[in-house]
Amino acid sequence: MPGEAAVDYNALPDDEFRARVRAFVESRYPEALRFLPRRVRMDEIRVWWNILAEHGWVAPNWPREWGGMGLEAGKMVIFLEEMERHGVARAADQGITQVGPILMKYGTDAQKAFYLPRTRSGEIIWCQGYSEPNAGSDLANLQTSAVIDGDHFVVNGQKIWTTLAHDATHIYLLVRTDREAKKQQGISFLLVDLDTPGITIRPIRNIAGHEEFCEVFFDNVRVPREVLVGNMNEGWTVAKALLGFERLNIGSPRRPQYALMRLEMLARSKGLFDDAGFLDRFTAIKLDLEDLAALYGRYVEQVKRGEPLGQDVSSLKIWAMEAWQRLTDLLVETGAEDGVIEGAQDIGGVEIDFLAPFYYARPGTIYGGSSEVQRNILSKYVLELPS
Ligand SMILES: Cc1cc2nc3c(=O)[nH]c(=O)nc-3n(C[C@H](O)[C@H](O)[C@H](O)COP(=O)(O)OP(=O)(O)OC[C@H]3O[C@@H](n4cnc5c(N)ncnc54)[C@H](O)[C@@H]3O)c2cc1C
Repeated sequence: MPGEAAVDYNALPDDEFRARVRAFVESRYPEALRFLPRRVRMDEIRVWWNILAEHGWVAPNWPREWGGMGLEAGKMVIFLEEMERHGVARAADQGITQVGPILMKYGTDAQKAFYLPRTRSGEIIWCQGYSEPNAGSDLANLQTSAVIDGDHFVVNGQKIWTTLAHDATHIYLLVRTDREAKKQQGISFLLVDLDTPGITIRPIRNIAGHEEFCEVFFDNVRVPREVLVGNMNEGWTVAKALLGFERLNIGSPRRPQYALMRLEMLARSKGLFDDAGFLDRFTAIKLDLEDLAALYGRYVEQVKRGEPLGQDVSSLKIWAMEAWQRLTDLLVETGAEDGVIEGAQDIGGVEIDFLAPFYYARPGTIYGGSSEVQRNILSKYVLELPS
């Protein structure tokens, strides 16, 4: 059993739990992986995954019976805050955050027994196969198909923007299983081993030069019918079951921390705090981040009270991502001619990579629902404006 299996974290006072998490992270997390301004690859972060797994902390959101920490919402927020405060990189953890909870809710006993322990140990690493070339914001338009042939599904089609598919062993897929039904109603949810013949994974290099996501092609891929999760044609419901926590986490005010720290150090080394123009802009962005912290804090309290998040949480995502982008814009501008040079540089004794955080912040207004789509949600459900 993991080292801390007997501890009931939910019974600990918040401060004590926070201190425990902080001490653990500070003593065990690899220094070289702090505040990485890019997605970390699995071969770099596996050492940390193993440390968490040994300690029984790899699945904070899972119940104890499946080897998780069984954290209730308030403790979960503290856990994530401490990880972010220390600059812990996010591993390919969708098996923990998404697949695990989905299987616990919709999986068969055989699926749970097979996938959950392997997912926790890191033997199985998952990637998310939802988006397609013509199905992103309008996800229900997806066309990758799965047709029943005896005891198998035969899958054909293409997924895109599949984060870290080249580091994954398995993919959870939304596929069309009924072309006659209304868009959302003909979709099913499958779990597919990426070693199955007929699958091709092609990494996509992003503007920062990192191969962070991939295209995944399916050419007559035969998978057993047991990989269906939930009922046939009800995959939309399965996939949508879990939006709560992710929506809060994506608005965490700690994400821009690296860029803010660097900007402050740079400004100090260049004496920019004596420049009224710079000070004005710096203060504005710092206040934006204070606003973000306050807004985030409000939603955290809501989650702690056990209340579901409403559609208004879209404002958190918009503000978090757009403030982060404004901050990294200012970082690049402040770097002046150095700000457009790739890679880390020594500026007056301060080591700064201007472009990495700038690039890292760019897709934030796209993934997890673009800013435009979030504004549509606010307009329709919160402001109740005519569409
Ligand atoms: C870093 C990153 C990682 C990702 N990882 C994954 C992953 O692991 N798995 C996965 O399945 N997907 C992943 N995605 C894909 C992501 O979910 C899609 O990019 C997103 O849903 C947007 O879809 P799209 O790229 O097709 O853009 P589109 O939907 O084509 O949108 C293009 C533009 O049109 C705007 N737009 C679209 N619809 C509307 C509307 N109704 N009103 C106003 N404006 C609109 C959008 O805001 C955007 O500016 C990832 C994306 C990124 C950037």
